[in-house]
Amino acid sequence: MNRVIDVDVAVVGAGLAGLSAANRAAEAGLSVEVFEKSADEAYLCNSRYTGGLFHIAMDDMAGDPAWAKANLQQATRGTADPALADALTKNARRTLAWLSSKGIRFIKGGPDGLRRNSLSPPGVRQTGLNWRGRAGDVMLRTLGDRLRERGGKLSRGLSARQLQMDDGRCVGLTLDAVDGHTVSVRARAVVIADGGFQANPDLVRRFISPRPEQLLQRNAGSGVGSGLLMAEAVGAQLVGTGRFYGHVHHRNAMADGGLWPYPVLDSLATAGLVVDAAAKRFCNEGLGGVFVTNAIARLDEPLSATVVFDDATWNGPGRDWLLPANPYLVNAGGDVQTATTLDELAPKVGLDPAALKATVAAYNRQVDGGHAGDQPARSTSPYKAWPVRQGPFHAIPLCAGITYTMGGIATDAAGRVLHTTGAPIAGLYAAGSATGGLEGGGEAAGYSGGLSKASVFGLLAGDAIVEALAGAAANMKAVA
Ligand SMILES: Cc1cc2nc3c(=O)[nH]c(=O)nc-3n(C[C@H](O)[C@H](O)[C@H](O)COP(=O)(O)OP(=O)(O)OC[C@H]3O[C@@H](n4cnc5c(N)ncnc54)[C@H](O)[C@@H]3O)c2cc1C
Repeated sequence: MNRVIDVDVAVVGAGLAGLSAANRAAEAGLSVEVFEKSADEAYLCNSRYTGGLFHIAMDDMAGDPAWAKANLQQATRGTADPALADALTKNARRTLAWLSSKGIRFIKGGPDGLRRNSLSPPGVRQTGLNWRGRAGDVMLRTLGDRLRERGGKLSRGLSARQLQMDDGRCVGLTLDAVDGHTVSVRARAVVIADGGFQANPDLVRRFISPRPEQLLQRNAGSGVGSGLLMAEAVGAQLVGTGRFYGHVHHRNAMADGGLWPYPVLDSLATAGLVVDAAAKRFCNEGLGGVFVTNAIARLDEPLSATVVFDDATWNGPGRDWLLPANPYLVNAGGDVQTATTLDELAPKVGLDPAALKATVAAYNRQVDGGHAGDQPARSTSPYKAWPVRQGPFHAIPLCAGITYTMGGIATDAAGRVLHTTGAPIAGLYAAGSATGGLEGGGEAAGYSGGLSKASVFGLLAGDAIVEALAGAAANMKAVA
């Protein structure tokens, strides 16, 4: 039996982006229903798994907007959409204050800008997944409670399948219920906030990697790109779809839940050298962990990458950052191959000794400022290149962990979905990891911060809907 629902605002997805948009619309008195595909009370999504650090480009989200925008443009090497970058940075402080007013608690989780606005209770400093009763779990429950207090609804077990259009305007959507029923929603505004397409192998193959099955799903598995496909079907523009936010992991994380989402091996990958099955370097490691992870994913065989480094790196950058490989990887059971010479090390990780020695020698020449033959460039900024000279030498087989897709549906700064013509599609909005443009595109795409993106643009989409629907109500009164 089919059901029909009538609301002002229909939201697809009950993560941070969807609940931010929904709460903003509900507090303005609009009728709102959020549709979440999972039927579970503690439905899994990236917002529930999150580490809980609200930041912009790995620094203080509440910092001066012009400074935060410059950080973002540096992280994306100038490819962040300027209007979206402005909207993010100018509304960041307001968004944190608004979330606080909804009962979300922030604490200073560490001395740096990255951790200055951390969810409370903070994520556990342990390897593996630890979300219950912590950062994102508490945040989602709090936002869900606030929504219900304002008369909004959060309906689980309903998966959005198709947008309903009338003369170029989005007027609702069609959903599939877990019990097999179809639900038709008529809405004056629809918000797509389904969290990206990282867990859809077909879309990952179309945009990101020839071998999606060789990527580590470093996420909740809930983002399967239904929002992107629904929007594309009604003519929406897509932007920046070739890159994702993620981290370099031990290859055993593909089968061992204790090795993800932490420890990440970015500090080793950006200090040492990363080679493919032929023991050849294939990317500029100095551009950062997100860049290296994307380069691994684009290999014909993503599960062929190996990081090679020496003891100075293991005891230097190997101890850097949150839950560093040294010692957390070893403590969690991730093996590190070690040998006194490269000749002995190579066969332990399936590499040809002569090829590895040639690559390391050329890399060391490069670190010394010399000629590198046909190897990719190795910048020393933002990440310093450490030579691989002094045994014992180490190697770790890697995999690329995909957390969320940085590209997606194109929107303007108010969260309005853009048609391929460049004009907004009336009645249709998108926010969070479903969207693209903020984090740039192509080789230069860079990580902005999933939580700042979801919350700021969820709130801005809510603002825009309130304004549009209030305007429509005023017009109707004037006509009457
Ligand atoms: C382990 C981990 C750690 C992280 N740590 C940080 C951090 O410290 N700082 C930071 O800034 N970012 C972090 N992130 C990223 C950040 O959590 C996400 O980018 C952000 O939470 C995304 O929010 P969202 O609302 O866009 O998507 P999500 O939270 O994924 O929510 C989308 C929701 O939509 C639902 N959905 C999907 N399809 C449909 C459909 N067809 N119909 C109905 N519902 C649907 C999904 O089930 C899901 O509940 C982390 C992510 C992970 C996985």
